Amino acid sequence: MNVVIVGYGMAGSRLAAELHARDGDLKVVVLGAEPHRAYNRIMLSTLLAGKVAEPDVELAEVAGQGVDVRTGVQVTTIDRDARVVHTDDGDRIPYDHLVLATGSRAIVPPLPGLDPADLPERVVPFRTLDDCRRILAAAEGARSALVLGGGLLGLEAARGLAARGLDVGVVHPVPYLMERQLDPTGAAVLAGTLAGLGVTTHLAVAATRVAADADGVRLDLADGRSLSADLLVISCGVRPDTALAAAAGLAVERGVVVDDQLRTGDPRISAIGDCAQHDGTLTGLVAPAWAQARVLAQALTGEDPAARYRPRPVVTRLKAAGIDLAAMGDPADGPGEELTFADPARGTYARLRIHEERLTAAILLGDNPSVGQVVQLFDRGAPVPADRRALLLGRALGGTAAAPAESPALMPDAATVCQCNDVRKGALVACWRAGARTVDEVVATTRAATGCGGCREAVAGIVDWLSEADSVGATR
Ligand SMILES: Cc1cc2nc3c(=O)[nH]c(=O)nc-3n(C[C@H](O)[C@H](O)[C@H](O)COP(=O)(O)OP(=O)(O)OC[C@H]3O[C@@H](n4cnc5c(N)ncnc54)[C@H](O)[C@@H]3O)c2cc1C
Repeated sequence: MNVVIVGYGMAGSRLAAELHARDGDLKVVVLGAEPHRAYNRIMLSTLLAGKVAEPDVELAEVAGQGVDVRTGVQVTTIDRDARVVHTDDGDRIPYDHLVLATGSRAIVPPLPGLDPADLPERVVPFRTLDDCRRILAAAEGARSALVLGGGLLGLEAARGLAARGLDVGVVHPVPYLMERQLDPTGAAVLAGTLAGLGVTTHLAVAATRVAADADGVRLDLADGRSLSADLLVISCGVRPDTALAAAAGLAVERGVVVDDQLRTGDPRISAIGDCAQHDGTLTGLVAPAWAQARVLAQALTGEDPAARYRPRPVVTRLKAAGIDLAAMGDPADGPGEELTFADPARGTYARLRIHEERLTAAILLGDNPSVGQVVQLFDRGAPVPADRRALLLGRALGGTAAAPAESPALMPDAATVCQCNDVRKGALVACWRAGARTVDEVVATTRAATGCGGCREAVAGIVDWLSEADSVGATR
């Protein structure tokens, strides 16, 4: 069977790897419009901040191992009757099964002075590796930057540029930052933390015009102010790339509509990742994209023809040095009781919603040692401990460090350690028992910590614990 994957991003490359790993009798062709080998898009924030170099964001490739990967090739049309796709280099590639993994595109707002098809050199969206290279080139020798959009990615970009020594201003049309994940109080604490790191926020004000030339960028605001800087990063959200699917007559709402098996209305065409809309929802995150890739691989290889995609609770974490932020669910919504704690001077804010002894939502900002435990409780729907203050403050009564469940020994095997790849503690222990002895070996086998990398310390902690416990025979 010929499987053609359109898009060599996070979802397309993972699907190719999952198909390859299952060694089914499939011929796989991956067509990627970007000229690069597969890279970890979510690490672009870390690359921008200078914490890693380009080679560190490359993803393990399966190209050349029975998988035909063609980069710099854009699919222009799908002919569903003939079951072929046409590419911009004039090729015509037949498929038995076609997978759309076309991702999202950065939204460039319709402002006077901004032509999305011809952006000035100093005005750059933040979505691709090429965008990241352009931002870094413009930041070279620059003293100041503006970021349009105070959502998660805008703030990661702002923090990264500030870490490079630039004065950064964030312009956000909403009265508070990260309104999809935070509440006004938490966002105010975050704005205070950002200010201390060299990022100024301009809230509740829309941009009205952009003027850019070789010397810099000017951003006019609706309140009459004009802000100037050496470069402008646009982070105004993304839109699923659905044009190909729509032109082929597939059902498209906000994304390409798929069922639990990731199938579109055409049983020979599936969609996964940012471009797919499952159960009315767009995901926009890597964990669901990789879960979908796994489910589709199980179905296409015949390993589990009945495999179904089931969404899991989403935990959002800001990848910005000096800012610890985890948000899950909507603490302002739903039944149950609410616990809050704010200490703006220390950049700390916590809000938990608990219903029937289960954690249904949380915001944790600032250094809170309970964050791992809170994520676990949310993820597994496990009962919260009697002393809820320990979760809220990261300290148990009496001032001792809390979070006993963060000790690997007390973590249940079902606890998810790596959210991006859905790797549980039990899988890490099994990997150790099978012979892996270093963090790198455990990571290579289980894929834990290969997404956003935020769990690497936790993985290292488990490896240390196993190593110590092994020496006294405790884990066998
Ligand atoms: C800076 C940044 C930080 C992020 N941080 C996080 C994070 O911390 N956690 C998280 O979960 N998510 C994060 N995300 C979101 C995450 O990267 C996406 O959810 C993920 O990349 C989706 O994977 P995808 O394969 O669906 O789309 P993409 O990775 O966008 O890949 C789609 C690919 O398809 C190609 N394509 C499109 N149309 C065609 C065509 N017609 N022919 C050929 N190729 C085509 C595109 O060029 C692109 O390479 C971040 C995103 C960015 C930009």
